[in-house]
Amino acid sequence: KMSSIPSTMKAVVVDKTGGPEVLRYTEDQPVPKPQDSEVLVKNKYGGINYIDTYFRTGLYPAASWPLIIGQEAVGTVVAAGSSNKYDLKEGDEVVWMKQGSYAEYTAIPAERVIKIPTGLKDEDVLGSYLMGMTVLSLVKEAYEVKKGDTILVHAAAGGVGLLMCQILKDIGATVIGTASTKEKCDRALEHGATHMINYKDKTDWVTEVKKIVPEGVDCVYDSVGKTTWEGSLEAVKRKGSVIYFGNASGPVPPMNISVLAKKNTKIMRATLMQYVVTREELEHYTNLLFGYLKDGKLKVNIHNIYDLKDAQQAHKDLEGRLTSGKLLLKIS
Ligand code: NDP
Repeated sequence: KMSSIPSTMKAVVVDKTGGPEVLRYTEDQPVPKPQDSEVLVKNKYGGINYIDTYFRTGLYPAASWPLIIGQEAVGTVVAAGSSNKYDLKEGDEVVWMKQGSYAEYTAIPAERVIKIPTGLKDEDVLGSYLMGMTVLSLVKEAYEVKKGDTILVHAAAGGVGLLMCQILKDIGATVIGTASTKEKCDRALEHGATHMINYKDKTDWVTEVKKIVPEGVDCVYDSVGKTTWEGSLEAVKRKGSVIYFGNASGPVPPMNISVLAKKNTKIMRATLMQYVVTREELEHYTNLLFGYLKDGKLKVNIHNIYDLKDAQQAHKDLEGRLTSGKLLLKIS
């Protein structure tokens, strides 16, 4: 069957770090050859995540160059190595998470590949896969959210943000969100946020949080980083938690941990990848997410589906704060 697989493919390749213009579309990229323990997937849609911009700019160093970015895709298995332990066969519809999804074909270790259950739509699965598992790991493990907690969520109308609002509401938490426009604030409110603060208009958003909860919030989920990290420490209550997990405005700078003694604050820098290292962990969070989707408890918002060759535009829109929800790439 390998004979029906072409030798070259469409891909977006990054040759050097930089702005969106370094995303080079090509149709001449060699198709990877899967190892015995891998499967080759023909990708249908690729997911866009903010992390793709960190690899593009060099904020996160790449293991090797040139680089194919993108962390997740849905597609069809077109070749399965003989020693794959997960019963993956040609023709299986799958979702996977690993680097290298801005491409028509990807070779992926079988233990990172998950079959899409019948009844779930590709767009809903990919629209919530990496992002939804991020939210679930943050609310179950990084800080375990309890019914009745008050939680501050920055960038609440983003891809991760809209999923987080819904999952926190489902747990029974009060959600205070931040976003930069009225439209985004309205959108987050429609997805389960209880209060929204426009942190572009109200630059003193900490005061706005304290008007709602004078003692401070139980936990802050902060993916904005540079422009919010200090305010997040102010907005949390005594003995509360601040979970940093992103750099949309730039990374959190080195800080003096003695500032945490003011309120016995717990801080953490979390990443999904360290919660889904083993197959068991990956299946745990995948099944939790699929359960939400099957129960109709998550509305997946696709901001836009871009053609693979328009990846530059997708990055411009994401970094320009023009998007709300998930961005997908149509690959084949
Ligand atoms: P989003 O859709 O949330 O886009 C980022 C949002 O951040 C923007 O829409 C914008 O919302 C806000 N923002 C605030 N300041 C800036 C700025 N200076 N420049 C650009 N955007 C800014 O992206 P994702 O849903 O893909 O990711 C959200 C965050 O979560 C990212 O930081 C990402 O790295 C992180 N993440 C971390 C993971 C992990 O494992 N640690 C996994 C997945 C995501 P507004 O206009 O309302 O301010």
